Amino acid sequence: MVNSRHARAINNWLFHIPLTLYPPRCRLCDAPGADGVDLCRGCRADLPWNTPCCPRCALPADGMRACPCHQQPLPFRAAVVPLRYEGAVESLISSFKFHGRLADGQLLGTLLAEALEGSEGVLPEAVVPVPLHAGRLRQRGFDQTAELARALRRALDPLPLCRALRRRRGDARQATRAARERRSGIRGAFTVHRRRSLPGHVALLDDVVTTGATAAEAARTLRVAGVHRVDLWALARTP
Ligand SMILES: [Zn+2]
Ligand SMILES: [Zn+2]
Repeated sequence: MVNSRHARAINNWLFHIPLTLYPPRCRLCDAPGADGVDLCRGCRADLPWNTPCCPRCALPADGMRACPCHQQPLPFRAAVVPLRYEGAVESLISSFKFHGRLADGQLLGTLLAEALEGSEGVLPEAVVPVPLHAGRLRQRGFDQTAELARALRRALDPLPLCRALRRRRGDARQATRAARERRSGIRGAFTVHRRRSLPGHVALLDDVVTTGATAAEAARTLRVAGVHRVDLWALARTP
């Protein structure tokens, strides 16, 4: 019997085999993939794409109303978050995060890379992943944002990865807390190390943006450390 640690090691190993060895297969319906990606055309069209959305904070836009983020200063300049966290995207992300299926992470990373290639923004000098707390990392065995960064780097070479942020304390209860509590709970959650290696323009990379509080705090920490422009890149935004 293959235990979960072995399964994860094998999965990890498979993740690093070039994709060309296998014909792409849709991760959602098992039909042949299209355009060299593990997704068929039908399932791709049915994904909950985050359009239209606010170019500053990626909140799904609802018609004529101005985004609430325009009433407050935001620590990031631009956001690229191509998907909404619902339906098939929610299943792909949870399969990647909680069951360690790195092929799903790779697919999601590819979709983000495509969105970045299609966006008109200025590319940053480095990508800074939002780190997982050390306890969570031990529990899960891998850091999903670092894996995403790896998938991105393959597509957006030669964008360097800069692991400048450290998480100061746990976020175990974040998912179930109310928005205001989350904002106050996240204050001071990050520290910066390798300050001197930080360039002037970075993209902060996260998997899911829920209230935006974690990303905002991470961006604020980078700004205080001297970064003058922080963009936000993530897979999905909670509507
Ligand atoms: Zn499909
Ligand atoms: Zn906004």
